[in-house]
Amino acid sequence: MPVPIQELCARLGILRIDDLDTDEFEGGLVTDAKRSEGTILIKRGGEPRRRFTIAHELGHFLIAHHVPDQPGRFLCKSSDMLRLTAKEGDRRQRREVEANRFATLMLMPPHLLRGAMAAFREPDLQHVLVLARDFAVSKEAAARAYVQYHPEQIAIVVAGNSRVQRCYRSLSFPAIICGVGSPVPARSHYHSSPHRPNVASNIAACSPDLWIDVKRDLRAPSLYEQVYLQQNGFAMILLRLEAVPEESAEERRLDEGWRHRFHSGRR
Ligand SMILES: [Zn+2]
Repeated sequence: MPVPIQELCARLGILRIDDLDTDEFEGGLVTDAKRSEGTILIKRGGEPRRRFTIAHELGHFLIAHHVPDQPGRFLCKSSDMLRLTAKEGDRRQRREVEANRFATLMLMPPHLLRGAMAAFREPDLQHVLVLARDFAVSKEAAARAYVQYHPEQIAIVVAGNSRVQRCYRSLSFPAIICGVGSPVPARSHYHSSPHRPNVASNIAACSPDLWIDVKRDLRAPSLYEQVYLQQNGFAMILLRLEAVPEESAEERRLDEGWRHRFHSGRR
């Protein structure tokens, strides 16, 4: 680790990796119809971002059913690099989703990721930073992998300029009620006490209904937040859900008795 992506490209038929001189696209691939060889083009930028783009374009090169928009030339925007789902029947979107999955698997191979994750216990954004450093990927790519591989119910919300930009959650984490583009809830710890940039905050309890739908007649689960502010106006907010322990039969009986008295107006 980190996976030597440029070396792998050279061994797999990529002749050159050149700079792309446009802001419109994040990356590109020039190749022939038979994919006998190719040249990857990437926008100038930070190393983790470049590595992801290279791996994404290598995906287009190796996945035989990927068909470029123009013959011999794939061009991908930064929104393509973030695409995780595709509209049904949209072949272009599906192609981008597949290239992203490929890039993630190349840069964070599951066996290495599981090994790294084994050292972590309680969910903590510090771990995301360790993964990003060790695998030389962006913090966001590391965050996506972290929620996917962590055994607990967690989610990471990416906020930009106080608004929700993207949400990544583990399979067991319920839907987040703040849609993309909506402001980070006013009572979130994101807004409280000035956070020091590039330092993960303490993990603190918050009201669960800030982020998830809490059923009225069920006991509310516990939700915890941790905030990591970056210098460019972006932040990651880790959400950790602690499920309600199963009620004992005795508790349920007391609860129902109370509800019955409440509804019938007796005391
Ligand atoms: Zn692409």
